[in-house]
Amino acid sequence: MQCDLPFNVKNLIIKSGLENLKSYPDIKRNYHSLQGLCVNLLAFKEGSLLWKMFLITNPNKKSGLFWFLPHDNENSAFNAAVYAVKRYGGGFLSIYNKGRRYNMGQDPNRNFANSRRRICLQQKAPSFGYTNLVFSIINYYKSPSYPYLALHNNTDKGGISILKSNKKTKSFPAYPIKQVKQGIGLADEDSIVYTAGSQPEPPKAKIASLINAGLNVKYEYVTPQNNDCSMSNYTVLGLGSENYYNIETQHGKTLTQIKMLNRLVNLIQKGE
Ligand SMILES: [Zn+2]
Repeated sequence: MQCDLPFNVKNLIIKSGLENLKSYPDIKRNYHSLQGLCVNLLAFKEGSLLWKMFLITNPNKKSGLFWFLPHDNENSAFNAAVYAVKRYGGGFLSIYNKGRRYNMGQDPNRNFANSRRRICLQQKAPSFGYTNLVFSIINYYKSPSYPYLALHNNTDKGGISILKSNKKTKSFPAYPIKQVKQGIGLADEDSIVYTAGSQPEPPKAKIASLINAGLNVKYEYVTPQNNDCSMSNYTVLGLGSENYYNIETQHGKTLTQIKMLNRLVNLIQKGE
């Protein structure tokens, strides 16, 4: 198997190959599906934080699709990413953190800033090394015209819901509210595709095509003042790109997440 790795990553690989990594829970759970894929574990230290990440790619299909999964407690997202890489090619990068969301108190999705100093309250320390490593890997595999992609899981009726809006995030449900409240599949309040941008209102056509595909959409209005150093915020503020999607479902809803992923990939591949 020819596994193509970025130059700056080759030295960071600490374990390689499905057989050598099969004792890790995410790998064990997806062992069958991961056959034929390149499976690597890399390690990287910045300040007092040691970061470990699975880099999983499809050696036979370079699709230009690449996903980032910051939270190791979100297992359905991992399963959906394996599905995506088997079916469509490309790859994904997933933080390995012994099944936990936080690494020594640091949320991996609040650690994006290309600065020698802390710029968000949510950062424990400067994180330019982490930021540049993660994005160099994403940009190595991703087609330049394709979006930055993330996968997450959330909790039933938790803080995130398509039924809620605030100054920073606006909700655009794809289904009648009655159906959203019934909470089935793609209509569920926790089944959401996130987008982000620097204007108070999102581009209408983009929201419309997602809604037409049956995807609940949230738009995150990102400014330097409300920057939380998440991937979406860094994509907008640090990279000047509004080409970002994050697919969220409740924990355990792998099939719903895969359905949403198929619909989003279809839109991406059609260039919508
Ligand atoms: Zn998450």
